Amino acid sequence: MKSNSELLAAAKRHLYGNYRPAAFVVERAAGCELFDVEGRRWLDFTAGVAVCSVGHAHPDLARAIATQAAKVMHVSNYFYNEPNILLAGELCKRTGMDRVLFCNSGAEATESLLKLARRHHFAKGEASRTRIIAFHNAFHGRTLGALSMTGTPKYQEGFGPLGPVTHVPYGDVAAVRAAMSPDVAAVIVEPIQGEGGVLLAPPGFLKALREICNEVGALLLVDEVQTGVGRTGSFLAIDQAGIRADAIALAKGLGGGFPVGAMLTTEALAGALPPGTHGTTFGGNPLACAAALEVLAILDREKLVAGAAEKGAILGQLLGDLVRDFPTVFEAARGRGLLWGLVLRNSSGVPVARDALVALSDAGLLLTAAGERVLRFTPALTVTSEQLHEAISIVRKVAPTWVALRATG
Ligand SMILES: *Cc1c(COP(=O)(O)O)cnc(C)c1O
Repeated sequence: MKSNSELLAAAKRHLYGNYRPAAFVVERAAGCELFDVEGRRWLDFTAGVAVCSVGHAHPDLARAIATQAAKVMHVSNYFYNEPNILLAGELCKRTGMDRVLFCNSGAEATESLLKLARRHHFAKGEASRTRIIAFHNAFHGRTLGALSMTGTPKYQEGFGPLGPVTHVPYGDVAAVRAAMSPDVAAVIVEPIQGEGGVLLAPPGFLKALREICNEVGALLLVDEVQTGVGRTGSFLAIDQAGIRADAIALAKGLGGGFPVGAMLTTEALAGALPPGTHGTTFGGNPLACAAALEVLAILDREKLVAGAAEKGAILGQLLGDLVRDFPTVFEAARGRGLLWGLVLRNSSGVPVARDALVALSDAGLLLTAAGERVLRFTPALTVTSEQLHEAISIVRKVAPTWVALRATG
């Protein structure tokens, strides 16, 4: 096994420099623990950015993938395969949706939503309905269509022309009404803005969007790439808002680490993308679908969706205590289920999230940043109560160093 420094030197020579990875090389992981090539351990509360929903190296998931790989991995969409058909049924059963189109990532799923909306209006003879209403701070992925809908100027800079997409403030019903025009095809929304800073939809907001879309004949597209598959304590986050979407994007947690995405639609939209209009070579392959099927089975067997609500309540309590005990460092904690943000104060001595991550990693805890000032907690749904306490105790060790920095100027 090569050392961190040997591997990092090679990485700097050959890897494209579009990321800013931590300064160690992962060798293996189990549950919520991660180990580097030199054997150092971290408590992993990133879960690969809300992806490894059943924890790293879950033995049942590893076995399901190995078993399927030995049968057949890929056949293309020229042929049916059993895991694909069974997974579509399972997803419809859990979401109340009617149709599933598989893909390989979150961006592909939201890109599919965009194409679905345009093609739906085109088929109805309203080809001029092409505009999307999206929200400030929204994140829908990085391909050009998805990037048009992503509402963070930093991600869009230098990639234009994009659109047509109108971005309005998240939670602002009046702004959505004001932005409505006859060329609007759809509204796309995240039930909780994950990348944007773990911002929760205000009560009644999603319901109001549903009503507005019904009034004007626009589609309501819901991006559950980060919130879906149980993370917020229900299978979909919108289950808690009591609304039904016209179409939904899933990805991240669906494969438990295996790349798989899906677009779910109602029966009314079943004909909007007829054969030949949209597709992907890898999407819905038997290996990815077998992995996702096993993830759903594990969620059931280990009661992980209800568990996300219960453990999320503990995590929320612990984070609330942190905010109370370190009021000069933390401004607030917000989230639902096992998707939480801890907001760093914008005051001298308190680092921005990206720098805070390095200090926490040095102390043994891995988190991700959501925007400039939010530390995001997205542990696997298999996280234990002990691990929640361990994570918070690491933050409690590091936070005073930021207070001290503040005191000395
Ligand atoms: C991560 C994310 C995406 C993009 O998913 P990729 O797999 O990175 O393309 C889209 N929407 C939301 C809400 C996300 O969190």
